[in-house]
Amino acid sequence: MEPFSWWNEKQKGLMEDVKAFADQNLPRGEEIFWTKEFPIDLLKEVARKGWFGAVIPENYGGINAGVTGASIVSEELSRVCSALGDAYEVSMFGGVEQFLTFGTDEQKQKWLPKIAKGEVVGAVCITEPFVGSDAAGIETTAKREGDHYVLNGKKRFITNAGLADIYVVYARTSEKPEDKAKYQHLTAFLVEKGVPGFSVEKINELSGWIGLPNGFLDFNDVKVLTKNLIGPEGAGWKVMMAGLNFERVVFSAGMLGPMRESIRHAVAYAQRRMQFDKPTIDIPSNQSKIAEMFAGLYTARLLIYHAAYLLDQHKDAMVEAATAKMFTSDTYEKLVSDAVQVMGGDGWTRFYPVESYLRDAKVNQIGAGTNQIMRLVIFRGGLKALGKDLKMPRRRIHEKLKVPISTVQPPSKTNLNEESVLKLLSEDYMVNPGLFMSREDLKERLADASEEKLDQALKTLESEGSVKLYRDGRGTIALVKATYDGLRKAGPLEKYKWYPEWLSKEFIF
Ligand SMILES: Cc1cc2nc3c(=O)[nH]c(=O)nc-3n(C[C@H](O)[C@H](O)[C@H](O)COP(=O)(O)OP(=O)(O)OC[C@H]3O[C@@H](n4cnc5c(N)ncnc54)[C@H](O)[C@@H]3O)c2cc1C
Repeated sequence: MEPFSWWNEKQKGLMEDVKAFADQNLPRGEEIFWTKEFPIDLLKEVARKGWFGAVIPENYGGINAGVTGASIVSEELSRVCSALGDAYEVSMFGGVEQFLTFGTDEQKQKWLPKIAKGEVVGAVCITEPFVGSDAAGIETTAKREGDHYVLNGKKRFITNAGLADIYVVYARTSEKPEDKAKYQHLTAFLVEKGVPGFSVEKINELSGWIGLPNGFLDFNDVKVLTKNLIGPEGAGWKVMMAGLNFERVVFSAGMLGPMRESIRHAVAYAQRRMQFDKPTIDIPSNQSKIAEMFAGLYTARLLIYHAAYLLDQHKDAMVEAATAKMFTSDTYEKLVSDAVQVMGGDGWTRFYPVESYLRDAKVNQIGAGTNQIMRLVIFRGGLKALGKDLKMPRRRIHEKLKVPISTVQPPSKTNLNEESVLKLLSEDYMVNPGLFMSREDLKERLADASEEKLDQALKTLESEGSVKLYRDGRGTIALVKATYDGLRKAGPLEKYKWYPEWLSKEFIF
């Protein structure tokens, strides 16, 4: 595929180099589907070429091509096989972002050059046997004892388990409810392979990601020196969240490779497969599937590299990263299933690699936070990010048309008392007859509306039965509407009457 126009020359060159490497090694990737042997030689080759340093600045031995650069490498390597692509990606998640953003100078000097050269491979350890989506519930503990912490617990589903040399481990350092409430109960640690008490408990037999070790880790009184904390004690959640935005972008880029390869196989196959005296690519429903594959690939690629660009600009990209991850993984699953469909029975045999991509696709909707969790992140983050754009338009009764219509006129304000609040609620009933008014809607229309005075007026109206209040989880009055009694008190029935002109008068009583 073509580089994007906003990529710099280094990033464009990087794409050419990694693409050539991937093209050369595609057959090797297919061998791994059968042998299940992890391609350690290819990973070493990737290291020798310096691509582990894609996102690492030059002064630490990297090539400084940004999150965009790491995504480019991830996209191309994932064309070879998931074992290679995912081992690369996960190594990026297990140290690089955490050291760059939160590491001390000493940690950066020590680890980043080694990561850049591929001398050490990383892993990230959040998930536990009893802790999945609810990552804040981590049960592995770390207790301070002088100049070190003692870690106890287990992690599971850890990609690169055993293969990695360094493990970014999140553990609980506080049991205080107030710390948990503020997400200050977790701390990030760097744990090196080989320290006493740290072992691989089990390796999973996965449905896909053939050849890539993924498993359980056990921590039994593991001593970790305080200099191996990443960020201060209690900052683990912050470290984890920053790392996850980076992870979701680079992880999504790793889905583009198999998506591209699936399209390649499906198209090439359909151009050569004859049914009903014509190539199956001439069948409109196959063309429609291939068109949707292209559209999915193009859209996913744009989302990913836009999010990567934002991260490279040090901008907040939480919603964009989660959107890229959710959209790409959902699209990948459908795309590869369609590719198999276009190839018919052959597509589902292991003699074409598309079958292997089909098994790989599902886990992308689970790893790096499930797509249900992505929807939560996007919902909450979207409300925050688009807050101003989502403000309810002010509406009023139009003088001539006598119907509700939006207005850009600044709201007229009235003094705050029970009577004026009830009048505003009755006016709102005329423009939004099924809705409550929000506290903010009311305050916008009231002069001198301190929180206390407003609460007082609303509670008085509630005790009289004139309004109904909705209190949020914190007990704050958030929404209010006039009851039928309240509407009657606010004005005669005539005030609320309206009929379309075409209506026969005899229907009105
Ligand atoms: C192959 C593979 C590689 C992985 N690699 C790593 C790794 O390197 N490091 C690491 O730390 N972890 C890793 N993981 C773990 C992965 O991040 C978790 O599997 C994932 O976060 C979901 O946790 P869970 O599997 O325990 O599912 P659960 O959290 O038990 O969820 C089960 C189901 O309930 C849904 N659900 C849960 N809570 C909610 C909610 N609040 N709202 C809506 N739906 C909800 C989920 O979406 C899911 O569908 C990997 C997982 C796999 C399968």
